[in-house]
Amino acid sequence: MRIDLHTHSRVSDGTDSPAELVAAAAASGLDVVAITDHDSTAGWPEALAAGAEHGVTVVPGIEISTEYAGHSVHLLGYLLDPTLPELVTQLDHVLAGRSARVPTMVSQLQEIGIPITEDDVYQQSAEAAATGRPHVADALVALGVVGHRNEAFDRYLSWGRQGFVDRYNAPLEEVIRLVAEAGGVTVIAHPWGRSGRHEPSEEHIAGLVALGLGGLEVDHQDHPPSTRDALRAIARNLDLIVTGSSDYHGTGKTGHPLGVNTTDPAELRRLLDRAAAASAAAGRPTPQVVLP
Ligand code: AMP
Ligand code: ZN
Ligand code: FE
Ligand code: FE
Repeated sequence: MRIDLHTHSRVSDGTDSPAELVAAAAASGLDVVAITDHDSTAGWPEALAAGAEHGVTVVPGIEISTEYAGHSVHLLGYLLDPTLPELVTQLDHVLAGRSARVPTMVSQLQEIGIPITEDDVYQQSAEAAATGRPHVADALVALGVVGHRNEAFDRYLSWGRQGFVDRYNAPLEEVIRLVAEAGGVTVIAHPWGRSGRHEPSEEHIAGLVALGLGGLEVDHQDHPPSTRDALRAIARNLDLIVTGSSDYHGTGKTGHPLGVNTTDPAELRRLLDRAAAASAAAGRPTPQVVLP
């Protein structure tokens, strides 16, 4: 059984529709794929229908933008009830903050002579739950200012660059609690990715386990082998679920093809068991997944 537990569609900053994403998962030989758009579950119904059509098991998930001790942390949530009011409030706050900074980003880029308009950006995010930096990047590609999304981030959109504007992140500890309350399971996405720093530390992760954290995404393209080994050891020490995934974004992210990293079936079974227990404890109806 081949399992990929972290992918994006056009509902956030992927380039496939949810149905195209699931069809691509089937074509690449995956048996199970999770749809985990940033801060939105709007792609779930279409992805689940496509899963039934293509014979792929779809795990409904989300990747939530959070902040912990001043660091950005992406938190994956699986099999939660997305209607929990406090969770909806946090997600709406993140989505609104993401979209609200577009005018400022555009005017900051105009100040350095780039002929970009807000409409150029919104054309790129027509099907998305919010408009983010990846859509500004796509607009810069469409205008011929840069050749690829990565180049747009490196030159204009990363922290400290002319187009950068900060936005709201939800408090990590509160979101871990809310996903548990919504009957779901949490996994920290690429815990030591990108920044290159070992944040959060094992001690911090132990504190998060006490709040209900369920697992760590160990096998991710941002993690070199030494990082994977260290994270696997922490997961073992703290009895956490270990996941692996592609973080596929269609053509929006190079080097992240579907199934490039996968999750062990025994780890997925642990995740499903934990989700069933969380759902029972929360007394909330949550999505159910039956493995092939
Ligand atoms: P935002 O939430 O609007 O600030 O956009 C952040 C998102 O942009 C991240 O979650 C990534 O999916 C994406 N991203 C960040 N850095 C890059 C990069 N260098 N190339 C492509 N996508 C990126
Ligand atoms: Zn993304
Ligand atoms: Fe992420
Ligand atoms: Fe992601």
